[in-house]
Amino acid sequence: MQGFLDKMNEGIRKLMAGRYGGDQLGTVLVVISLIFSILANWLGRWMTVVALILLVLAFARMFSRNYEARRKENRVFLQAVAQPGKVIHRQRVKFANRKTKAYVRCPHCHAEFALPKGKGHLRATCPKCGEKSEHTV
Ligand SMILES: [Zn+2]
Repeated sequence: MQGFLDKMNEGIRKLMAGRYGGDQLGTVLVVISLIFSILANWLGRWMTVVALILLVLAFARMFSRNYEARRKENRVFLQAVAQPGKVIHRQRVKFANRKTKAYVRCPHCHAEFALPKGKGHLRATCPKCGEKSEHTV
């Protein structure tokens, strides 16, 4: 049994030598493919086709020898998901601080910043452009 596993490991290592392997984009493709193939039971057979295409794409990337192109794809993907991630993070912070902080916008550059809540009328300096503005919080 051990011999068989060793041979299998050796086989996998030889197969993957010089190949790109997995990355975040690859993982997401496989996960979406799995979700689609499960949802296909309720939402229609076309989702099975999409799932299969995504899976083939994921494997094609994994076995690719073109590191440069695969890295670039993954970088573009990570940048695309980072933006909404930041927005969601900001919303979470605002929600967590909703009792102690009021969020106001600078009337000059429209940057958003926090002021202590319930302090009445405040004169604030924008942290981005330095303009002074008045806010009631
Ligand atoms: Zn400003």
